[in-house]
Amino acid sequence: MTEKRSKHIAIYGKGGIGKSTTTSNIAAALAEAGYRVIQIGCDPKSDSTTILRGGNELPTVLDTLREHSKIKIEDISAVGFKGVLCIEAGGPVPGVGCAGRGINAAVGLLQDLHLFEEYKADYVLYDVLGDVVCGGFAVPIRDGIAERAYVVSSSDFMAIYAANNLFKAISKYAPSGGARLGGVIANGLTAPYAESLVDDFVGRTGTKVIGYVPRSLVVSQSELYGQTVIEASPGSSHADIYRGLARHLVEHEETTIPAPLNGRELKAWAREWGDRIFEVEAGVIGERAAI
Ligand code: ADP
Ligand code: MG
Repeated sequence: MTEKRSKHIAIYGKGGIGKSTTTSNIAAALAEAGYRVIQIGCDPKSDSTTILRGGNELPTVLDTLREHSKIKIEDISAVGFKGVLCIEAGGPVPGVGCAGRGINAAVGLLQDLHLFEEYKADYVLYDVLGDVVCGGFAVPIRDGIAERAYVVSSSDFMAIYAANNLFKAISKYAPSGGARLGGVIANGLTAPYAESLVDDFVGRTGTKVIGYVPRSLVVSQSELYGQTVIEASPGSSHADIYRGLARHLVEHEETTIPAPLNGRELKAWAREWGDRIFEVEAGVIGERAAI
């Protein structure tokens, strides 16, 4: 009998950009649609799955490994909203060691415990910090763990910079079996030019936006309740946006190898947008002319 293999998907982005919020809402939407989902937080901040679990604490894999030699799945996981299995890889003792170690240790342990097969997961989501894609943080896309990666970005330059770095890592590792890119999730867009800026960046790098999530109070409110939007406001338009992202992940498995900008190109591109934004703000050109 052939086992149905779980789909492993990594979601990257700079710190604070909305990775955990977006990943948790996608996990919740997938679970609501009947899929079995595991979410693995790969950020030393260890708060990836908080809003799937009513805001409760969860021991991290690295902390548990430090204290016990024999570990069971129940020691390092919690069942959250609609059965999503939540795991936090954790990080090193502050100031010591590589933050990427947690990811290696966690994935190694979960493989040893045969979790993915035993839990019969349809989707395993990795929520990965990606300000810089250093060796440790590249593990999910480098070592054949995730087959697909997405990046959460706003129109802020640092978020675009982190996305471009991920594109560099993917284009380096994809030819030898690493993950390929599913697309960009544009989050928290507010400025009138924001969508055009992100669209222009994806156009230049041979990638695409798979969904736009506007900044919204419903997201902040749900977070304060310790819940995803899917749980706290299931009838809201934002819940439908996250359901749309989840559907996209299920229905669109096609991926690309991005063409990242080099340092000089990225700088020139940023300057160009700086000039355009200045002209819009100064009223030299109308908003539509910036698009
Ligand atoms: P990350 O995991 O990338 O570090 P988080 O998902 O923790 O980022 O999000 C950082 C903050 O931004 C949180 O307070 C979250 O509620 C908020 N946030 C994320 N996306 C949105 C959005 N679309 N609208 C409003 N607030 C958002
Ligand atoms: Mg996070």
